[in-house]
Amino acid sequence: MAPPQEQVETSPKVSDEVKYTTCYMCACRCGIKVHLTDGQVRYIEGNPDHPVNKGVLCGKGSSGIMQHLSPARLSAPLKRTGPRGSGEFEEISWEEAFDIATGWLSDIRASDPRKLAFFTGRDQSQSLTAFWATKFGTLNHAAHGGFCSVNMAAAGLYTIGGSFWEFGEPDWEHTRYFMMFGVAEDHDSNPIKTGLGRLKTRENTKYVSVNPVRTGYSAIADEWIGIRPGTDGLFVMALIHELLKSRKIDLDFLVRYSNAPWLVRAEDGHPEDGLFLRDEEGNPLAWEKNQGQPVNALLPNIAPELSGLFEMPDGTKARPAFEIMAMRYLDQEYAAVEVAEKTGIPAETIKRIAAELAHAAFEQEIELDVEWTDWAGRKHDKMIGRPVSMHAMRGISAHSNGFHTCRAIHLLQMLLGSIDCPGGFRYKPPFPRPCPPGPKPTGKPGQVNAGEAMPGPPLGFITGPEDLLVNEDGSPCRIDKGFSWEHPFSAHGLMHMVIHNAWAGDPYPVDTLFLYMANMAWNSSMNSKGTMEMLTDVDESTGEYKIPHIIYSDAFASEMVSYADLVLPDTTYLERWDCVSLLDRPISTAHGPADSIRQPVVQPDRDVRPFQDVLIELGARLGLPAFSNEDGSATYPGGYADYLVNHQRMPGIGPLAGWRGENGDQHGKGDSNPDQLKRYVENGCFWKHDLPDSQLYYKHANKDYLEFAHGMGFIPSSDQIVMQLYSEPLQRFRLAAQGHGEHQPPEDLRKRITDYFDPLPIWYEPIEETMVSHDQYPIHAITQRPAAMYHSWGSQNAWLRQIHGYNRLCMHRDLAHELGVSDDDWVHVESHHGKIKAQVRTMTGCERNTVWTWNAIGKRRGAWNLEKDAAEGEKGFLLNHLISELLPADEDGKKRRMSNSDPVTGQAAWFDLRVRISKAEVGDGVSEPRFEPLQPVPGVQKRPKILRFGEQFLPAGSWRRKDRS
Ligand code: SF4
Repeated sequence: MAPPQEQVETSPKVSDEVKYTTCYMCACRCGIKVHLTDGQVRYIEGNPDHPVNKGVLCGKGSSGIMQHLSPARLSAPLKRTGPRGSGEFEEISWEEAFDIATGWLSDIRASDPRKLAFFTGRDQSQSLTAFWATKFGTLNHAAHGGFCSVNMAAAGLYTIGGSFWEFGEPDWEHTRYFMMFGVAEDHDSNPIKTGLGRLKTRENTKYVSVNPVRTGYSAIADEWIGIRPGTDGLFVMALIHELLKSRKIDLDFLVRYSNAPWLVRAEDGHPEDGLFLRDEEGNPLAWEKNQGQPVNALLPNIAPELSGLFEMPDGTKARPAFEIMAMRYLDQEYAAVEVAEKTGIPAETIKRIAAELAHAAFEQEIELDVEWTDWAGRKHDKMIGRPVSMHAMRGISAHSNGFHTCRAIHLLQMLLGSIDCPGGFRYKPPFPRPCPPGPKPTGKPGQVNAGEAMPGPPLGFITGPEDLLVNEDGSPCRIDKGFSWEHPFSAHGLMHMVIHNAWAGDPYPVDTLFLYMANMAWNSSMNSKGTMEMLTDVDESTGEYKIPHIIYSDAFASEMVSYADLVLPDTTYLERWDCVSLLDRPISTAHGPADSIRQPVVQPDRDVRPFQDVLIELGARLGLPAFSNEDGSATYPGGYADYLVNHQRMPGIGPLAGWRGENGDQHGKGDSNPDQLKRYVENGCFWKHDLPDSQLYYKHANKDYLEFAHGMGFIPSSDQIVMQLYSEPLQRFRLAAQGHGEHQPPEDLRKRITDYFDPLPIWYEPIEETMVSHDQYPIHAITQRPAAMYHSWGSQNAWLRQIHGYNRLCMHRDLAHELGVSDDDWVHVESHHGKIKAQVRTMTGCERNTVWTWNAIGKRRGAWNLEKDAAEGEKGFLLNHLISELLPADEDGKKRRMSNSDPVTGQAAWFDLRVRISKAEVGDGVSEPRFEPLQPVPGVQKRPKILRFGEQFLPAGSWRRKDRS
């Protein structure tokens, strides 16, 4: 007789309804199935059909329930009644809130639209917000990219027409050697985890992680390289040196797909020295070996020279870009032995990694029996790949030398021939795009006019000094000084400078600061204390705040809420329509384009509205073109859902690509379809198009793919996309700084531009590090992102707080020994800018001279509706207090003080920080600095002592329910 079997139901039915939507617990945008019982959220699971996560759900995603039920949720519009920061507000109606906002904004629009600074944080509706700013007529708009990873994005888009994460991914199926540089765990989260899982379960693969700290992804790397912060570029250039020296580079790839053969004028002092030679039609030239003359470099079937000095028929002298590049990196300055000390990586390790890269790329070539046709119509019967792939993100990006470091990584990929080939890095449609893509930013003098929309979007990509947004005297047009001589390629703006510049009235004062989802009064600002002071500083001559009006929209009672004059409460992500659009930062994979929506799976139980609805209504009330009709009525009376379906940015192109056209049978381009959202919901809230095998690789040069992408409106033509190993836009700035051309930089910025605008990647010591004494501040300090939190969002989440309720200052045991401190001791950490007190945790998995902590765990007491003695406020701390938004002043204080940013893109240089550490008394055993607790804002529910979830679903009379109630 069979033994009795215990009957265990492993998947009990927990819900009476399931609704699909898109997670928003971090930036990764996984598909989810929300289980509902009696209309209440019961359980969240991953959507197995979704292209991003294929059913995988992380701890944050599961904890979305507690985000939705958070006691920190705002519940009604608020008007400030006491001083800023006091938390004194009164609840008002939406009608009154709209009246106040339209009163301020209509005055600005009628007089000087620049006086509105509209900046958003990590929201996912940037296509809408930028469009709204354009129609309002202000150039002062950007999202969070300037303080996050614009270096990575801009370097990629100027170099290979794509980048990592939302722009591209490793070929996880075929790659054999994978290198990851400085990655935040919450970027591309589930795809990287599943990709690493696949990589590590295959034989003969290797995963190398380059990061000063061995946490998260680095912890499972086959080899961890604990590099010194800010030296990644030097390490990559040393790898390039070794590969060039051993001739392990893919010359065919460079000739076919990059500008390596293009001729660069080599005439010192000439106004076009360093620019490409071009024919009368503007095509770049290459020197044809067989013909012995210059030819159009874009022609197929030419045999261009890669080295030599050539004389053109008119006497002009030029060299191929490849030779200039090779001469640069073959210099002994980049030899492994020369960079070892600065990077902290032994020379043998650098040489070995270079040899391993070469072995994987050239000895383990992959062939796929897939036919494809290149851009010139040539048929190929195989797809050949070099199975080396790379991924990088914020860790290398957030340094003042990050743009060039990111470009260096792309150069390394090009030299190995491992871009969009089997086993390599792969573009995600709509990428690749031309390098750089359009459009150019708008906001030059004459483009911003009272009562008018701007003729184009505020952000974009410039290609020369003539595209800068500067006044005749060279001064910046934008409040954040983006696209000025100070940071010309600031494709995402400089959000970290907005409050400082608005407070200082430099370059001019603003009237209204309008922020969404950006906790600028705390963890999203450098110099958090100073920022709070700027937000509350009063102009003595008028008695008004120096930033007269602040409108803020957030779903939760974050620190920033207390500093607003008008609070517009947002919904949670489970309560609204939303869109992850191809016009913005889509969810495509290398297998094809995709986009997705969020649908309201539950209705709000508070007087809150989705920010996107509010913005659209504000647009209508203000009479903005495209948001209001000629008769004054609203263009989209149905709010964001209406806009998603009916808005067309260009004929046939709207926010959503799927199920377009009257019958819903067109994709990409097509008329509006009134049933479009219904079709998305029926399909699990996403749309995807699977590329045929013949279009899966070489997208930059694949005829069928390029024609498809052009047809979808991704790219302006189906021409080949040529990778820019040598960057002419950078050289144009350098020439200007040398005195050439009509557009000239201010005298005091000439050297800066000459130094940093090199057409080939360079490495320099991070700028702040060169301005502080290494003897006084001998230690690097950086943050890492925990896998279980996204920025500050998880702080009010009862489940996630149990993982990270406070943070410690982590340091290597050897350093701790040298400082005379042990686990749990308290230390003072001082920078040139500030001082904090924190508790120590020792470890060995970090660079010897680098201390680190988790980002954004420390909270201002009283914020986020946490208990006043919550661990986040008592023991949690921020490094932000040590980081200045400005570089140190010169000794006599006479020189222009520059922002603490990358000089090329304006990317916030969070990780250039150097500190000194000393043992502190335990005292009260709390972190410093201490601030007065914030007062709870009206409408936020009384926080229960213990937050419980699930009891409501137990049967009435259940002993457990009774026991705990
Ligand atoms: S990775 Fe991000 S988007 Fe995906 S489930 Fe986790 S929190 Fe949600």
